[in-house]
Amino acid sequence: MTVDYDIVVIGGGSGGLVVAAAAAQLKAKVALVEKDKLGGDCLWYGCVPSKSLIHAARVAHEVKNASRFGISSDNVQIDFAQANGHVQKVIQAIQPHDSPERFEGMGVEVIFGSGQFIDRHTFEVNGKKLTARNFVVSTGSRPAVPPIPGLKEAGFLTNEQVFSVTERPDSMVVVGAGPIGCELGQSFQRLGCQVTMISSRDQIMPKEDPEAAAVVEKQLLAEGVRIVKNARADKVELIDGKKCVWAGDEKIVVDEILLSVGRSPNVETLNLEAAGVEVGKKGIKVDSALQTSNSRIYACGDVIGGYQFTHVAGYEAVVVLTNALFSPIKKWFPSKANYRVIPWATFTDPELARVGLTAQQAKERYGDDVMILKQPFEDVDRAQAEAATTGFAKIITTKKGEILGAHIVGSSAGELIHEIVLAMANNLKVSALTGIHIYPTLTEVNSKAALLLQKSNFADNEFLQSFLPRFFGFLRSR
Ligand SMILES: Cc1cc2nc3c(=O)[nH]c(=O)nc-3n(C[C@H](O)[C@H](O)[C@H](O)COP(=O)(O)OP(=O)(O)OC[C@H]3O[C@@H](n4cnc5c(N)ncnc54)[C@H](O)[C@@H]3O)c2cc1C
Repeated sequence: MTVDYDIVVIGGGSGGLVVAAAAAQLKAKVALVEKDKLGGDCLWYGCVPSKSLIHAARVAHEVKNASRFGISSDNVQIDFAQANGHVQKVIQAIQPHDSPERFEGMGVEVIFGSGQFIDRHTFEVNGKKLTARNFVVSTGSRPAVPPIPGLKEAGFLTNEQVFSVTERPDSMVVVGAGPIGCELGQSFQRLGCQVTMISSRDQIMPKEDPEAAAVVEKQLLAEGVRIVKNARADKVELIDGKKCVWAGDEKIVVDEILLSVGRSPNVETLNLEAAGVEVGKKGIKVDSALQTSNSRIYACGDVIGGYQFTHVAGYEAVVVLTNALFSPIKKWFPSKANYRVIPWATFTDPELARVGLTAQQAKERYGDDVMILKQPFEDVDRAQAEAATTGFAKIITTKKGEILGAHIVGSSAGELIHEIVLAMANNLKVSALTGIHIYPTLTEVNSKAALLLQKSNFADNEFLQSFLPRFFGFLRSR
């Protein structure tokens, strides 16, 4: 059967753009279908605006707290509209990289519209039937909206509206204390809004190392964020223009509600049933080659419901690209997605970065053969110089030094984790991290943590403990 394209990509965000660009550069015939704007959540409503807002909020925080360095900062004024204006400027600066013109220049046919599958090998958009050797679904996710009575009537924000707010609410409830809730909650608090966070668990950021999450929580509380734990928002009422949120016994009265309770995959309008593509609770079901139940259709990014990060969508896009583009060969030995070494960071202040297993997961898998190497930033001279002594690096290894995971909470944790990521990805032992590091840098937190294994092995080595003093005694007496 003759088809129109090598690949049709549905969804032009972090995953889809990588597939489309790389396929076109390899001279394949590619169509990219996008229902809204190229760039996806990351550019418009996710990573880019959130990190820009975090930066503006951080500057506000630094200025307010500059007096500890003898710098006077009385009467700090925050123009919220201008702080959020910075967010829009950053989006505009990055947007040309994801523009339709750029992709068309590469040879991608960009089609704006929201289409659907009409059978196992045809996608219809704007009345045009697209056939392809392979399809890639990369339609991402959207904020989940729980059925809280009164919520819709009272009105609320999600990540899709929050970056366009020009007037600062004086008070805000953040429902959900995961990474997005914590990043945005701290930013709004720093920009002068009284924030209350509602966490359904006892721990904020429940996927993270509990000790590391506790460091972030302590900082949030110190900055004035209120955290209501083990509670769910279960009713909302609008009273005299204010929003009243009930969470268990608590009644929280605020100007605005921000929802950050998880993500739902964008699958509903694609008519995946007609294409024979199975969908589970978390999203489209794929195998390790990221192939769906229809062998012509692949999926990547948030829509498959795994690790929902831009860099993971990009990684999966490369797996999908090779398998889909070279399918006649690749079907015999497909590229497989490998999630052993997936790092991520939450860009609160202090930042919290992670790769691999938590201590608890490591103990469940490796029993007693687990070492926890914990190095506080306090002992790192550069951290002292920058008054950034909060937090620690925790590297989890086997007793022989195989790295199982790492958790860094502290200044620049999202940058510092990469040295450990590189070591893990290349199966280097933790001793590889003890090599020379520039003094004074924060990276010494990694080398100092890694050295703890050698120190512990030496302390436990009874032979060396008794032999070395005698050996040196012998040398001195000669
Ligand atoms: C507030 C926030 C902060 C974040 N911060 C980070 C961060 O710091 N680091 C990080 O790695 N990740 C971060 N993320 C996650 C990151 O944004 C996503 O993991 C990433 O965008 C997923 O890429 P994707 O290609 O799967 O989806 P997207 O990039 O969202 O792209 C999906 C595209 O498909 C389109 N689409 C949807 N339905 C259809 C349809 N029916 N037909 C055609 N097109 C369709 C959409 O319009 C969109 O353009 C953040 C997310 C949020 C919400």
